[in-house]
Amino acid sequence: MIIDSHVHIGNTVFFETPEDILIKSMKKYKIDFGIVSSLDGCEYDPDLNIIDPKVSKSQYEVSLQTLQFVKKYPDMFKGLIWIKPDTESFTKDLENFMLSNKDYICGFKTHPYHSKLAITDKKYAKYLEFADKHNLPFEIHTAKDIYSKSEFVYEVAKDYKNINFIMVHLDLWTDNSNAINLLPKLPNLYGDTTWVSTESVLKAIKIAGSNKILFGSDSPIDGINTYEKYQDLLKTLKKELSTDDYENVIFKNAKKIFNILNHI
Ligand SMILES: [Zn+2]
Repeated sequence: MIIDSHVHIGNTVFFETPEDILIKSMKKYKIDFGIVSSLDGCEYDPDLNIIDPKVSKSQYEVSLQTLQFVKKYPDMFKGLIWIKPDTESFTKDLENFMLSNKDYICGFKTHPYHSKLAITDKKYAKYLEFADKHNLPFEIHTAKDIYSKSEFVYEVAKDYKNINFIMVHLDLWTDNSNAINLLPKLPNLYGDTTWVSTESVLKAIKIAGSNKILFGSDSPIDGINTYEKYQDLLKTLKKELSTDDYENVIFKNAKKIFNILNHI
């Protein structure tokens, strides 16, 4: 059993993660279940120019796109809604959508760089209040840039104790030590393995415990063979960890956080 806590659909102007390639990549590498979000929720491109509304989707369209995909493969996916906190906001429509699709949609995804907005900004408050009230997780991109630092997630996680925050990438483009050292400080802070070296993943497990790290990949960001670069990690974890610790990382933590107990 392997759950990938971080996969994508969508087709923005700068990333392509087609639905059929995601399915093929998971089947090829025997990934049983995925937590999926749509890259079409990006608000700004890699140069931080706003994405032309003619080629982008609204937050609500992104929500429907994610729901429709998950409904096609309910035994294989649950969805996270990629939010647009800078150019849009938390609306009544989104609230109703989240409440009426709980079997398929289990939380939020946000990318502070592609929203040009740190998680500490007030524009996130309504999303966070709703997630806190309903115990929904927040998967959040963390990296070296001025919007995405793990310290910001730590600050917010102190205030919203009912939200489990997954710090995706454990601070991309760093040696991961800042993010790793934050993990044991709060019970609701987690990390994932996407683009993280095997060495850093082992260090994170040693410092924070196996119950704080989730397997994630960003598949199919590099095509059908995206999982190739995680083979060393999976093999090493199996060899180095106890069965309990290994299972926590590759599926048990995800099952608990994303409430997928009844799906598989
Ligand atoms: Zn991602």
